[in-house]
Amino acid sequence: MTAESHLLLCVGGIDPTGGAGLLRDAWTVSRRAPELRCEYVVSAWTWQGRGRPARARGLAPKVLERELDRASRSLGPLYVKLGLLSAETTEVVADWLRRREPRAVVLDPVLNASDGGSLGAEPEGLRALFPLVSLVTPNRHERLALGLGEPAPGMSPLPCPLLAKGVDAREGRVCDTLVDGLELVHFDRARVPGQDPRGTGCALATAIACALARGAAVADACGQAIAWLDHARIQARVGPDGRPHLRS
Ligand code: PLP
Repeated sequence: MTAESHLLLCVGGIDPTGGAGLLRDAWTVSRRAPELRCEYVVSAWTWQGRGRPARARGLAPKVLERELDRASRSLGPLYVKLGLLSAETTEVVADWLRRREPRAVVLDPVLNASDGGSLGAEPEGLRALFPLVSLVTPNRHERLALGLGEPAPGMSPLPCPLLAKGVDAREGRVCDTLVDGLELVHFDRARVPGQDPRGTGCALATAIACALARGAAVADACGQAIAWLDHARIQARVGPDGRPHLRS
Protein backbone atom coordinates (compact mmCIF):
# COMPACT_ATOMS: atom_id res chain seq x y z
CA MET A 1 0.00 0.00 0.00
CA THR A 2 1.44 3.42 -0.93
CA ALA A 3 1.47 6.53 1.28
CA GLU A 4 -1.09 8.07 -1.14
CA SER A 5 -3.77 5.71 0.21
CA HIS A 6 -3.05 6.71 3.81
CA LEU A 7 -5.22 9.31 5.48
CA LEU A 8 -3.75 11.84 7.91
CA LEU A 9 -6.39 13.47 10.08
CA CYS A 10 -5.36 16.57 12.02
CA VAL A 11 -7.62 17.63 14.89
CA GLY A 12 -6.95 21.01 16.45
CA GLY A 13 -7.89 24.58 17.14
CA ILE A 14 -8.16 27.49 14.72
CA ASP A 15 -5.72 30.28 15.57
CA PRO A 16 -6.75 33.07 13.18
CA THR A 17 -3.22 34.51 13.16
CA GLY A 18 -2.06 31.25 11.51
CA GLY A 19 0.81 30.95 13.97
CA ALA A 20 -0.37 27.72 15.60
CA GLY A 21 -3.19 25.20 15.42
CA LEU A 22 -4.73 23.67 12.30
CA LEU A 23 -3.45 26.35 9.92
CA ARG A 24 0.07 25.54 11.11
CA ASP A 25 -0.69 21.82 10.72
CA ALA A 26 -1.81 22.34 7.10
CA TRP A 27 1.35 24.34 6.38
CA THR A 28 3.45 21.56 7.89
CA VAL A 29 1.76 18.81 5.87
CA SER A 30 2.31 20.83 2.68
CA ARG A 31 6.04 20.89 3.50
CA ARG A 32 6.50 17.37 4.85
CA ALA A 33 4.09 15.05 3.07
CA PRO A 34 2.11 16.80 0.31
CA GLU A 35 1.21 13.41 -1.23
CA LEU A 36 -0.86 12.34 1.78
CA ARG A 37 -4.62 12.51 1.79
CA CYS A 38 -5.46 14.88 4.60
CA GLU A 39 -8.53 15.85 6.55
CA TYR A 40 -8.80 18.57 9.16
CA VAL A 41 -11.27 18.67 12.03
CA VAL A 42 -11.69 21.87 14.04
CA SER A 43 -11.85 21.15 17.77
CA ALA A 44 -12.01 24.77 18.98
CA TRP A 45 -12.04 28.37 17.82
CA THR A 46 -9.53 30.64 19.49
CA TRP A 47 -8.90 34.36 19.74
CA GLN A 48 -5.29 35.34 20.33
CA GLY A 49 -2.48 37.62 19.25
CA ARG A 50 -0.94 41.05 19.89
CA GLY A 51 -0.05 40.02 23.44
CA ARG A 52 -3.69 39.63 24.53
CA PRO A 53 -4.44 36.53 26.62
CA ALA A 54 -5.86 33.75 24.45
CA ARG A 55 -9.51 32.69 24.64
CA ALA A 56 -11.06 29.59 23.13
CA ARG A 57 -14.43 28.00 22.52
CA GLY A 58 -14.41 24.23 22.02
CA LEU A 59 -16.86 22.46 19.73
CA ALA A 60 -19.78 20.76 21.47
CA PRO A 61 -18.72 17.15 22.10
CA LYS A 62 -21.54 15.70 19.94
CA VAL A 63 -20.61 17.93 17.01
CA LEU A 64 -16.95 16.99 17.32
CA GLU A 65 -17.87 13.30 17.43
CA ARG A 66 -19.88 13.67 14.20
CA GLU A 67 -17.02 15.56 12.53
CA LEU A 68 -14.46 12.90 13.52
CA ASP A 69 -16.66 10.14 12.12
CA ARG A 70 -17.28 12.08 8.91
CA ALA A 71 -13.62 12.87 8.34
CA SER A 72 -12.39 9.34 9.01
CA ARG A 73 -15.01 7.26 7.22
CA SER A 74 -12.83 6.41 4.21
CA LEU A 75 -11.11 3.05 4.20
CA GLY A 76 -7.34 2.71 4.38
CA PRO A 77 -4.78 3.24 7.12
CA LEU A 78 -5.54 6.21 9.34
CA TYR A 79 -2.93 8.40 11.04
CA VAL A 80 -3.97 11.07 13.53
CA LYS A 81 -2.45 14.23 14.94
CA LEU A 82 -4.29 15.61 17.98
CA GLY A 83 -3.72 19.24 18.97
CA LEU A 84 -5.84 21.49 21.17
CA LEU A 85 -8.71 19.58 22.83
CA SER A 86 -10.99 21.31 25.28
CA ALA A 87 -11.72 19.47 28.53
CA GLU A 88 -15.32 18.62 27.49
CA THR A 89 -14.22 16.87 24.29
CA THR A 90 -11.48 14.45 25.40
CA GLU A 91 -13.99 11.71 26.20
CA VAL A 92 -15.55 11.68 22.72
CA VAL A 93 -12.06 11.72 21.21
CA ALA A 94 -11.09 8.73 23.37
CA ASP A 95 -14.25 6.83 22.30
CA TRP A 96 -13.59 7.63 18.66
CA LEU A 97 -9.98 6.40 18.90
CA ARG A 98 -11.19 3.13 20.46
CA ARG A 99 -13.74 2.66 17.67
CA ARG A 100 -11.62 3.73 14.71
CA GLU A 101 -8.26 2.24 15.82
CA PRO A 102 -5.87 4.46 13.83
CA ARG A 103 -2.50 3.03 12.87
CA ALA A 104 -0.70 5.81 14.77
CA VAL A 105 -1.75 8.80 16.87
CA VAL A 106 0.50 11.72 17.86
CA LEU A 107 -0.82 13.84 20.73
CA ASP A 108 0.50 17.37 21.23
CA PRO A 109 -0.88 18.00 24.73
CA VAL A 110 -1.62 21.70 24.27
CA LEU A 111 -2.47 23.39 27.56
CA ASN A 112 -1.63 27.08 27.12
CA ALA A 113 -0.90 29.71 24.52
CA SER A 114 2.43 31.48 24.90
CA ASP A 115 0.52 34.80 25.25
CA GLY A 116 -1.24 33.38 28.33
CA GLY A 117 -5.00 33.05 28.84
CA SER A 118 -6.92 29.80 28.72
CA LEU A 119 -7.40 27.50 25.75
CA GLY A 120 -9.89 25.35 27.67
CA ALA A 121 -7.73 22.21 27.94
CA GLU A 122 -7.19 20.30 31.20
CA PRO A 123 -4.42 17.84 32.09
CA GLU A 124 -6.78 15.15 33.39
CA GLY A 125 -8.60 14.53 30.11
CA LEU A 126 -5.36 14.54 28.15
CA ARG A 127 -3.86 11.95 30.50
CA ALA A 128 -6.81 9.66 29.83
CA LEU A 129 -5.79 9.66 26.14
CA PHE A 130 -2.24 8.41 26.80
CA PRO A 131 -3.05 4.66 26.57
CA LEU A 132 -4.67 5.31 23.18
CA VAL A 133 -1.83 7.18 21.47
CA SER A 134 1.48 6.20 19.85
CA LEU A 135 3.38 9.27 21.03
CA VAL A 136 2.82 12.30 23.27
CA THR A 137 5.02 15.39 22.78
CA PRO A 138 4.93 17.62 25.89
CA ASN A 139 7.20 20.59 26.54
CA ARG A 140 8.60 21.11 30.03
CA HIS A 141 5.60 23.06 31.30
CA GLU A 142 3.18 20.45 29.93
CA ARG A 143 5.20 17.59 31.48
CA LEU A 144 4.91 19.24 34.85
CA ALA A 145 1.18 19.90 34.50
CA LEU A 146 0.57 16.34 33.27
CA GLY A 147 2.55 14.84 36.14
CA LEU A 148 5.14 13.31 33.81
CA GLY A 149 8.64 13.10 35.23
CA GLU A 150 11.76 14.17 33.39
CA PRO A 151 13.27 11.36 31.28
CA ALA A 152 15.86 9.30 33.14
CA PRO A 153 17.17 5.75 32.87
CA GLY A 154 15.01 3.45 34.96
CA MET A 155 12.08 5.90 35.21
CA SER A 156 8.74 4.26 35.93
CA PRO A 157 6.96 2.98 32.83
CA LEU A 158 4.74 5.43 30.94
CA PRO A 159 1.42 4.54 29.34
CA CYS A 160 2.75 5.57 25.91
CA PRO A 161 6.00 6.66 24.23
CA LEU A 162 6.97 10.22 25.13
CA LEU A 163 8.99 12.84 23.28
CA ALA A 164 10.09 15.19 26.05
CA LYS A 165 10.87 18.52 24.36
CA GLY A 166 13.45 20.85 25.84
CA VAL A 167 15.09 18.61 28.45
CA ASP A 168 18.23 19.85 30.26
CA ALA A 169 21.17 20.26 27.89
CA ARG A 170 24.72 21.58 28.02
CA GLU A 171 25.46 25.27 27.36
CA GLY A 172 24.68 26.21 23.73
CA ARG A 173 22.85 22.91 23.10
CA VAL A 174 19.21 21.83 23.08
CA CYS A 175 17.91 18.33 23.59
CA ASP A 176 14.63 16.47 23.13
CA THR A 177 14.47 12.94 24.55
CA LEU A 178 12.31 10.09 23.30
CA VAL A 179 11.28 7.58 25.96
CA ASP A 180 9.96 4.40 24.36
CA GLY A 181 9.62 1.60 26.90
CA LEU A 182 13.03 1.25 28.54
CA GLU A 183 14.82 2.94 25.66
CA LEU A 184 15.93 6.60 25.75
CA VAL A 185 16.94 8.36 22.52
CA HIS A 186 18.49 11.83 22.90
CA PHE A 187 18.18 14.35 20.07
CA ASP A 188 20.97 16.65 21.26
CA ARG A 189 22.11 19.42 18.91
CA ALA A 190 23.40 23.01 18.77
CA ARG A 191 20.89 25.67 19.87
CA VAL A 192 19.47 27.72 16.97
CA PRO A 193 19.85 31.35 18.06
CA GLY A 194 16.91 33.78 17.87
CA GLN A 195 13.40 34.15 19.20
CA ASP A 196 11.21 31.08 19.45
CA PRO A 197 8.63 31.18 16.64
CA ARG A 198 4.99 30.42 17.49
CA GLY A 199 3.47 27.07 16.68
CA THR A 200 6.64 24.99 16.84
CA GLY A 201 4.88 22.39 19.03
CA CYS A 202 2.07 21.99 16.48
CA ALA A 203 4.53 21.82 13.58
CA LEU A 204 6.74 19.24 15.27
CA ALA A 205 3.91 16.86 16.20
CA THR A 206 2.40 17.16 12.71
CA ALA A 207 5.78 16.58 11.03
CA ILE A 208 6.17 13.44 13.17
CA ALA A 209 2.69 12.25 12.15
CA CYS A 210 3.61 12.86 8.49
CA ALA A 211 6.77 10.75 8.85
CA LEU A 212 4.83 7.95 10.57
CA ALA A 213 2.26 7.99 7.76
CA ARG A 214 5.16 7.66 5.32
CA GLY A 215 6.26 4.50 7.12
CA ALA A 216 9.00 5.72 9.48
CA ALA A 217 9.44 4.14 12.92
CA VAL A 218 8.79 6.43 15.90
CA ALA A 219 12.46 7.29 16.64
CA ASP A 220 13.20 8.00 12.96
CA ALA A 221 10.02 10.05 12.62
CA CYS A 222 11.07 12.18 15.63
CA GLY A 223 14.61 12.62 14.29
CA GLN A 224 13.40 13.68 10.83
CA ALA A 225 10.84 16.12 12.25
CA ILE A 226 13.29 17.68 14.72
CA ALA A 227 15.96 18.20 12.02
CA TRP A 228 13.38 19.79 9.68
CA LEU A 229 12.02 22.12 12.37
CA ASP A 230 15.53 23.23 13.43
CA HIS A 231 16.05 24.34 9.85
CA ALA A 232 12.56 25.86 9.40
CA ARG A 233 12.83 28.02 12.54
CA ILE A 234 15.80 29.91 11.05
CA GLN A 235 13.44 31.25 8.37
CA ALA A 236 10.82 32.59 10.79
CA ARG A 237 9.17 35.94 9.89
CA VAL A 238 6.99 38.32 11.89
CA GLY A 239 3.34 37.22 11.65
CA PRO A 240 0.11 39.27 11.88
CA ASP A 241 0.25 39.06 15.69
CA GLY A 242 3.68 40.72 15.81
CA ARG A 243 5.36 37.44 16.86
CA PRO A 244 7.75 35.31 14.78
CA HIS A 245 5.95 32.66 12.70
CA LEU A 246 7.39 29.70 10.80
CA ARG A 247 7.66 30.40 7.06
CA SER A 248 9.61 29.16 4.09
N1 PLP B 1 -3.53 28.05 19.64
C1 PLP B 1 -3.72 26.82 19.20
C2 PLP B 1 -4.97 26.54 18.45
C3 PLP B 1 -2.75 25.83 19.42
O1 PLP B 1 -2.92 24.59 18.97
C4 PLP B 1 -1.57 26.18 20.15
C5 PLP B 1 -0.50 25.23 20.40
O2 PLP B 1 -0.38 24.17 19.97
C6 PLP B 1 -1.43 27.45 20.59
C7 PLP B 1 -2.40 28.37 20.33
C8 PLP B 1 -0.22 27.85 21.33
O3 PLP B 1 0.74 28.23 20.45
P1 PLP B 1 1.93 29.16 20.95
O4 PLP B 1 2.58 28.38 22.05
O5 PLP B 1 2.78 29.32 19.77
O6 PLP B 1 1.30 30.43 21.43
